[in-house]
Amino acid sequence: MAKVPAGDMPEYAILNGNLLPFGEARVSIMAPGLTFAAAVFEGIRAYWNDEDEALYLFRMQEHLDRLQFSMRVVEFDDPPASDTIAAQIQEVIKANGMREDCYIRAQVFIDEWGDIAATGPTGSSVIVRRRPRQPGVAAGKHFVVSSWRRIEDDASPARIKATGNYLNSRLVSLEASRQGAGGAIILNRDGTVSEGPSGCVFMVRDATLITPPVTAGILESVTRATLLTLAADLGIDTVERPIGRTELYLASEVFYCGTGQEIVPILSVDKKAVGSGEPGAMTRQLQGVYDAVVHGREQKYMKWLTPAL
Ligand code: PMP
Repeated sequence: MAKVPAGDMPEYAILNGNLLPFGEARVSIMAPGLTFAAAVFEGIRAYWNDEDEALYLFRMQEHLDRLQFSMRVVEFDDPPASDTIAAQIQEVIKANGMREDCYIRAQVFIDEWGDIAATGPTGSSVIVRRRPRQPGVAAGKHFVVSSWRRIEDDASPARIKATGNYLNSRLVSLEASRQGAGGAIILNRDGTVSEGPSGCVFMVRDATLITPPVTAGILESVTRATLLTLAADLGIDTVERPIGRTELYLASEVFYCGTGQEIVPILSVDKKAVGSGEPGAMTRQLQGVYDAVVHGREQKYMKWLTPAL
C-alpha cells in the first residue's frame, strides 16, 4: 500500500455498505470505475468544536445532493440513497473515533467487471481521515495561469464531480508544480477564467467580490455558494460574471476556495503580485467568518451543520 503520512491511515473504511479494516477495502482491477473513470465522488469536511465537544459536518446535504446529480448524469444502476450514505458517513466517523478536523470522501463507481457503458454493478465507499488546516490558508500561495484549458460542459462536464474530470485537474496541477507554483487557474476556450484544479476562484475589484458564473466550466462548489451568501450577509457586493485573464493582474485580491482547500489567498498570478502581494483584507475577513461558521460558532448558520453522532 502507498505510504500514508504517520497517523493519517484510518482504521476503518466502508466498502459497499460494510465496515472493514481500511486495508481490506479493495475493488477489482477490472472495475470500469478504474479503467473508464465510471466513478463520481464527494469531499466533505467535518470540524471539531472543542467547547461543544462536537464534530460538525459542513453542508453534508448539499454534498449528497450533488452526488445524486453526478450519479444521474453518469447513469448508475441502483444509486445509493443520500440517507444511506449519510448513515455510512456517521458510522465511519464513529468507528474511527474522530475528534479533530477531518475529511470524508464518498465514492460511487462501477465495480467488478464491465465495458465502457456498463451501468452496474454499482459499488460505493466512504472513508474519513484527519485533515488539519493546510499552511496555505494562513500564508497564501503563488499561482500561475495554466497552459491547459478547462474541460467543456459538452465534453466532460465540470458541473459533476466525476473522477474523469480530474485528469484535466491533474495535468494542470503537474504543470503548476513543475513551475514551482502553489496552484493554477484554468482558462476556458474563450480565454475567461474557470476555476482551479480542485477549487473555485474569486477576485476583488472596487470592493466587489467577483466569481465566474456556474456556466464557466466550474463545479457548482458548496464553498463558493457559502461565500457568496456570507459576503452578501456582511453587506459586501457580489457579482457572478466572466473574469478576463488580465483582471487577475488588476484585482486587489484573489483567492482560491473549496472544501478541502478552505480559503487560500493568492499572492501572485504569473509572478505578478496581486494587490500588495499580501493576503487582502476582504479575504481575511471571509476566512474569519468562514472559520467561525464551519466550527459552529455562528448561531445563524448552524443550519448548515450536522453533528456527528
Ligand atoms: N472545483 C473543483 C474542480 C473541485 O474539485 C472542488 C472541490 N470539490 C471545488 C471546485 C470546490 O467545491 P466544494 O466547495 O464543493 O468543495
